[in-house]
Amino acid sequence: MAPNLATPIAELKGVLKRQASALRAAGVATVGDLLACYPNRYEDFTSHLPLASVKPGSQVTVAARIVSARNRKSFRRRLTITEAAIEDDSGEMVAIWFNQPYLAQSLKPGAEFRFAGKAVKTKFGVRLANPLYEPIGGGNGLVRPLMPVYPLVGGLSQFAMRKLAAACKEAIGAISDPLPPALRKANGLVGKAEAVRGAHFPETLEERDAARRRLAFDEVLALQLSIGRTKRLRGAKRAVRVPFDEEGTKAFVRSLPFTLTDDQRKAAWAALKDMAKDSPMHRLLDGDVGSGKTAVAAVAMVNAAKAGFQSALMAPTEILARQHFETFKRFFAGQGIGIALWTNNYRRSAADGKEIECAAKKEIEALRGAIAAGEVAAVIGTHALVEEKLRFSSLAFAAIDEQHRFGVRTRQLLCTKSGIPGVEPHLLSMTATPIPRSLALTAFGDLDLSILREKPKGRQEIATFVLGPRAKAQAYARIREEVAAGRQAFVICPLIDPSDTLGVESVAEAYERLRKDEFPGIAMAMLHGKMPADEKERVMADLVDGKVSVLVSTSVVEVGVDVPNATVMCIEGAERFGLSQLHQFRGRVGRGAHRSVCFLLPSAPSPAVDERLSAMTTHADGFALAEKDLELRGPGDLLGVAQSGRPALAMASLADLDLIAAARDAAATLLDGDPDLARHPALRAFLAAEIEDAHLE
Ligand code: ADP
Ligand code: MG
Repeated sequence: MAPNLATPIAELKGVLKRQASALRAAGVATVGDLLACYPNRYEDFTSHLPLASVKPGSQVTVAARIVSARNRKSFRRRLTITEAAIEDDSGEMVAIWFNQPYLAQSLKPGAEFRFAGKAVKTKFGVRLANPLYEPIGGGNGLVRPLMPVYPLVGGLSQFAMRKLAAACKEAIGAISDPLPPALRKANGLVGKAEAVRGAHFPETLEERDAARRRLAFDEVLALQLSIGRTKRLRGAKRAVRVPFDEEGTKAFVRSLPFTLTDDQRKAAWAALKDMAKDSPMHRLLDGDVGSGKTAVAAVAMVNAAKAGFQSALMAPTEILARQHFETFKRFFAGQGIGIALWTNNYRRSAADGKEIECAAKKEIEALRGAIAAGEVAAVIGTHALVEEKLRFSSLAFAAIDEQHRFGVRTRQLLCTKSGIPGVEPHLLSMTATPIPRSLALTAFGDLDLSILREKPKGRQEIATFVLGPRAKAQAYARIREEVAAGRQAFVICPLIDPSDTLGVESVAEAYERLRKDEFPGIAMAMLHGKMPADEKERVMADLVDGKVSVLVSTSVVEVGVDVPNATVMCIEGAERFGLSQLHQFRGRVGRGAHRSVCFLLPSAPSPAVDERLSAMTTHADGFALAEKDLELRGPGDLLGVAQSGRPALAMASLADLDLIAAARDAAATLLDGDPDLARHPALRAFLAAEIEDAHLE
């Protein structure tokens, strides 16, 4: 039977059980889901260049015969290099691959292949580095003029993804088009089914581009519709006016142990002005790690307290909430503001220098009662803040730290907790992911934006080095030195699943290797996303307490947690991360008095990788790196969409300002005539699915 859109992947012909379950775990269960995994890009086999005219530094496709192929070990023996001498009628060249020794056997002398990759100059001459290759006239039916390159969903290989897409091809015809035909025509867009076919199986560059434009339009339209609806709905919401107490605010700012930066001042001022209105503030505070977002939230909290209202600060983990509680204890000392910590495991109150730990049931109930009675002015906590039983009497302001770590639902729940009928708290969402302004306005267009670009004075620059495989030892030696001097270090690894064989070791493998070979006798711990939350918290707490000297972690390592004693950030497989993400990791160190360093250790070095990573050595500004990321990799990374396994093909066009303008106009027209999209059920359903998937709301 031919597959339809609802057919489970597991029922397709030729699919391995392992593959089907890996895909299911990544949220790809049906043929329809798989067809929605658009390729990120394409290898272009449509035109060939004679070998003699290949210029180093360019991306090329060539058709050539294999002369010979062999494997050799690199100097440090960690890397296997496959070299194939290839020729055509114009000349010859060498193609090289890293850590794919099995390749040498498939590259039989005399056989003809197409290669697509980057030509690079080495001291041995021009090399074709890590090219894609396909036998000419190869019998697997998968060789096409434009080879899709899929996002790595569930660790499946490109080959497997292409085969699966081919197996789903027949179902494409049944895809319905959510766009009204008139709208499609007005914007010169191809139909949805045609676009999906064109994305997976383009015959020409034109087909591919038309598909990309249509799919991008859909995504941007969904975003604009959702922003437009949120804004329209919000128009009806009410908040309490919190008068701006200029004297009180100034006195508090003077009492801080530092002078606010201009950006902090502007952001705080904007928030206070928003809060003086009777419609709820929805402001995004975007500032690099260490830019001082907490102090901005504190100013708003003090202002609310002076006007007799409560405020809340919600952090994604207990450890962060506890660090914030300690900070606010210091900030609010002498302000006469009572504060509380409220998480699942810690409940505490502090006022006028007196601190009470609430462990027994009775004590917890007493604190709950004090919050409900409005006796506690500022409550700091985790998602435990939104629990049913916790009530506020007059919550006028809420700040959400690392807002992207919370689901839409948690954020909405917090907005229902003001305790005043018909009133929502003013909301300040904070993020440490620097987002270029153009992108922020699109993706977070329903929020007002404050950016902290300027760093507080006296911040040290973190010396950053890119070290090839041969120089790795330097990084480990530095870690040993720092640990001997009483400092701590992070080692970040990109993957946790050993079956994802991209030549990059898993965090467990890295941990074992480092423990045995590099750091014997040093207290180490491991952290990854599959660990239960409380175990993760415990490991982070051990690090903060100095019980762990070297933490080997995946990218889950907490963004906001302060470990002032950590001085080395070492990132394995650095080429697999976006610049923004690398910058975030780097922000984990350099938070104390000691000089700190960051080592980037690419596992598959290449001139292109070196060039990209070198931006880290020259830029200390997260926003500059984010702009570079946007240019090089599209916005997926920046918005945290890449992690969800969602492909970046259409996302890439979020940077396309003309397309955004067209989609925004279309959204406004649609909503003006039909605010609930009642007359466009297909579009409404698409919107629901799209927005839920993309985690952008
Ligand atoms: P983040 O934006 O990453 O949340 P924090 O609010 O944690 O940054 O601030 C980082 C550190 O900088 C804290 O120790 C804080 O007290 C300090 N800090 C904040 N603002 C300033 C400032 N204007 N001058 C000096 N230090 C500051
Ligand atoms: Mg913070």
